[in-house]
Amino acid sequence: MNPNPESVQKIALVTGGAVGIGGATSERLAADGSHVIVADIDIDKAQTTAHRIREAGGAAEALRIDVGSPDSVREAFEQVERKHGRCDILVNSAGIAKTFPFLEFPLDNWLATLNVNLTGTLLCSQHAGRLMARHGWGRIINIASVAGLRAVGKGRTAYGTSKAAVIGLTRQMAAELAELNITANAICPGPVDTPMTEVLHSAEFRRQYAAAIPAGRYGTTSEIAATAVFLASDAAAYINGVALPVDGGFFASGARGV
Ligand code: NAD
Repeated sequence: MNPNPESVQKIALVTGGAVGIGGATSERLAADGSHVIVADIDIDKAQTTAHRIREAGGAAEALRIDVGSPDSVREAFEQVERKHGRCDILVNSAGIAKTFPFLEFPLDNWLATLNVNLTGTLLCSQHAGRLMARHGWGRIINIASVAGLRAVGKGRTAYGTSKAAVIGLTRQMAAELAELNITANAICPGPVDTPMTEVLHSAEFRRQYAAAIPAGRYGTTSEIAATAVFLASDAAAYINGVALPVDGGFFASGARGV
């Protein structure tokens, strides 16, 4: 039995769906046939992305969500439930990152980063998971990071820890939700050119980072988006609880050269 027949258009919600990795994932999921809810704290940019998807012949709408606010997350999913009655695919891409030296790491940024990156992922997954459970099919895809698998550069005390915790949360969800025919997987991108890294990565850091990657370059948003679309597909039904580096070999590699 296939509880999610091909004839039903899937509803996919992408947090942080306006730009960057989330934006590319919104576009790819729509091109793959889903109705995409571009959910973002920046509603203007979310609307622009949804409009672009519709112009390209896809189905999309914008929705304001602040994943760092439990009330905002609840209200957003209430809207989804009222309008669509389902959410089949959730991509948790909303995230924030700032770097500070470990010994001076400010508590307010630690709390804010864990709140958005980790608690936001938990809350959205709970709300979406309840809607998925009703229809007996679901895919949760968390955009973690290689910074959750190994320490990357300096200053990522909150960011790296939040992403390591997202990987742990993904495994917990995979173990508990499999009986509901819901899978949960994490993608761990290496560095990708997005509005986030434009601000976060200095020219020197970029040069060093690219040199540490066997592929010798940053990834693209479409390379991450393609992985998300695959994990959301029926072809990935038996993949559950993985933390998949999409990083040009960075995680696999140690010292470079001979
Ligand atoms: P980005 O900053 O370019 O885009 C993030 C989007 O999330 C923006 O549209 C922003 O408005 C939205 N957002 C931020 N806070 C939000 C909130 N509280 N509620 C809802 N939306 C919010 O980021 P990106 O580079 O595309 O990264 C996307 C995800 O991928 C993040 O979780 C990031 O940690 C992760 N990631 C990025 C890289 C990279 O190199 N770019 C590498 C590994 C992992």
